[in-house]
Amino acid sequence: MKDYFNQFKDEWVEKMSRAISSMPLSEQEKGVADIFVEGFEELGVEHYRDKAGNVIGILRGEEGGPTIMTNGHMDVVPAGNMDAWHALDLEPFTPVVRDGKLYGRGTVDMLQGVMCPFFAFREIKKLVDNGAKLKGNLVFTAVVNEEPAESMGALYLCDTTLQELNIKPDFVILGEPTNGYVLTAQRGKVEIVVDVYGKVAHSSAPWQGISAVEKARPVMDAIINNMYKKRMTHDVLGFSAMTITDIEVTPGRMYSCVPDHCSITVDRRYVLPTTIEETIQEIQDFLDFLSANDPDFKAEVHQRINTRTGYTGYAMEVAKQHPAWLTDTSCEYVKKTFDALRKIGQDPKEGCFVAGTDGSITMGKYGIPTVSYSMADGNMAHQPGEFCVIDDEMKEIEGYTAILCDIFGLDFDSIG
Ligand SMILES: [Zn+2]
Repeated sequence: MKDYFNQFKDEWVEKMSRAISSMPLSEQEKGVADIFVEGFEELGVEHYRDKAGNVIGILRGEEGGPTIMTNGHMDVVPAGNMDAWHALDLEPFTPVVRDGKLYGRGTVDMLQGVMCPFFAFREIKKLVDNGAKLKGNLVFTAVVNEEPAESMGALYLCDTTLQELNIKPDFVILGEPTNGYVLTAQRGKVEIVVDVYGKVAHSSAPWQGISAVEKARPVMDAIINNMYKKRMTHDVLGFSAMTITDIEVTPGRMYSCVPDHCSITVDRRYVLPTTIEETIQEIQDFLDFLSANDPDFKAEVHQRINTRTGYTGYAMEVAKQHPAWLTDTSCEYVKKTFDALRKIGQDPKEGCFVAGTDGSITMGKYGIPTVSYSMADGNMAHQPGEFCVIDDEMKEIEGYTAILCDIFGLDFDSIG
């Protein structure tokens, strides 16, 4: 690594610590967003905070070049059991540096992955200030509300804000934790709800009612055993999977009632070329089969839809889903990403996400070639004692700077 990038350690730790301390749970990302808004004000570049609370910084160059967008989410997951943090002598939202590591909730997933691209953005701005010609546009984006797996922030960014700003990205780099790999694909996730209905009655005489739980049993059996067995695999994306994550029964335990409603929540992971519609149809077909054979069987299936409200107060209806995506690795910007990292001595291997990302929107919905790159260890995501190695994060700033220089044809060697 160029020694030049080591100068950012203190400032990086200071900005990251401020971000972690703001406890940026989903829908509470204002503290992190403020850091970037202030940063862009200082830099004197075009920037926005949109209605959803996303932050966008834009360096517009000459026409004839690509529009490259970096993207990361500002929200983090809750701490989980505090005992696990205390056993490590840590508080999740009180960041500390120990042995060259920065500890705190969200260091890995993924405050590092919005902070490092911001530092790289500044380096590109410096080159331009020193007379380099930028052909194309560099767009920094930090979005809200990724962790609930609904992509509220990324959807508002892509559906509305980028359109209003007339920004059409040709390539997106996410900063989700990848251990130095360049990940180019992700399995799909969709949350499906099956509502099974019965007839309420006194539970002292269950034969007078229709138990929704009993009617739900063959549905649960099929989800656990039969449908899962029909799972598909994909060379890059891996396995499909399906499991029940929640069951809600009403009227429930408080009363002596035969329940008339059983709501089953299904977490379905799928691979291409399966579509979300097909994952729902698979269940619908089975419900149709059951109702054809049992006049008392009544059920319906639908996707989970939630309403999310940003820290700005803006509310949006979103489906609980992270559609699958697969970027064509023959894309010139993907090749340049690998080349640029190799040129600076990094060893980016290719791979695929197991969990969900906002690539579901950029590549999944909009078809914009998307990759994810960072030096943070994905195994630490959502864990107690989450940390990243500060030296590695300086390499990540260098990595982002090198990739952007390569794509824009700027002279990386002139830095430092
Ligand atoms: Zn993440």
